[in-house]
Amino acid sequence: MIYLDYQATRPLAPEAKEAMLRWLDGPDGTGFGNPHSSHRLGRQAEAAVEVARERVAALFPTGGRVIFTGSATEALNLALRGSEPSRAGKPIAVSAIEHSAVLDTALDLPGDTTILPVDNDGFVDREVPFPPVVGVVSVMQVNNEIGTIQPTAALHARARAAGALFVCDAVQAAGKVPIAEADVIAISAHKFHGPKGIGALWVRDGVELHPLVTGGGQEGGLRSGTLSPALCAGMGAAAQLALERMEADAAHVAALWDRARELFAGWELNGPAERRWKGNLNIRRDGLDVARLMSDVREVMFSAGSACASESGKPSRILGAIGLTQTEARGSVRIGFGRYTTMDELERAAGMLIRAAAQQG
Ligand code: PLP
Repeated sequence: MIYLDYQATRPLAPEAKEAMLRWLDGPDGTGFGNPHSSHRLGRQAEAAVEVARERVAALFPTGGRVIFTGSATEALNLALRGSEPSRAGKPIAVSAIEHSAVLDTALDLPGDTTILPVDNDGFVDREVPFPPVVGVVSVMQVNNEIGTIQPTAALHARARAAGALFVCDAVQAAGKVPIAEADVIAISAHKFHGPKGIGALWVRDGVELHPLVTGGGQEGGLRSGTLSPALCAGMGAAAQLALERMEADAAHVAALWDRARELFAGWELNGPAERRWKGNLNIRRDGLDVARLMSDVREVMFSAGSACASESGKPSRILGAIGLTQTEARGSVRIGFGRYTTMDELERAAGMLIRAAAQQG
């Protein structure tokens, strides 16, 4: 099996797994404590959670706090729904290529949602008009389907000048590139070789959010419920490793990207060639039947546009937003690679995909 679907999820880093095992039950059976209990077992678990929180916080800008959540989707819901009282009915503006965790949540909230258009490479213009009165602007840092890196710093400055909260979905940026400035930022551990089932929301000091989940008052009252020390420790270890290896991982990804572009020379690139994350190659070929390609090349785990879009069978909304026709979107594949992908795996997978595509005529 060759795994080339790094935007959907990433293999668990051995270092993260090791950190988790200690807090599942541990070699001497003392790792199962409730981090909110005040006895020794609880305090040990709490200490592990706080070490993890510091490691995760190191991914973010300074001047804020980290709230653990069950996923980035939950973190984004907390950001958008939790800002309702301060938004006070003012419109929300989101980019046209946001993940559904942002778009569907924004559309579900009362009041107007403005969709900020993108160009043919998926970029939001840094001077894009916001609604005359705006409460929240939400633009992602790195797109999950086409890799575009948005000018979030400029958009954040403009949102601040307009008196709006700037929310950033940094799920595909965290651990790969430095996370850009924003007011509220969401990330997910499994996208940087941590475990699934845990995400985090970073909240700038002074930003007030309203909780979605109430109860025991954990996470400063913003997200009640007992934390899993094992998941926190896994996320913390993965964050620490990602920071240590950021340059080396990026150099490896750039080398894989250059080779992949050579191998797929006859295919059209979807999304930008520059100002992008290079571990995400979204390409298309006229008349390609992606469903047939997937069944012909079962050894390679790749994606048709995006994992979510392929489940629904609908052509990708993101590829539509950058101007592709439905046929072009249907003939597109997303190949995602990273830290543990070898050059040999990439070359073998490309060989299989290119041969199978050529056989389609
Ligand atoms: N935002 C982006 C850009 C993503 O790629 C994803 C997952 O694919 C999410 C949000 C949601 O993350 P999770 O499924 O971990 O909640």
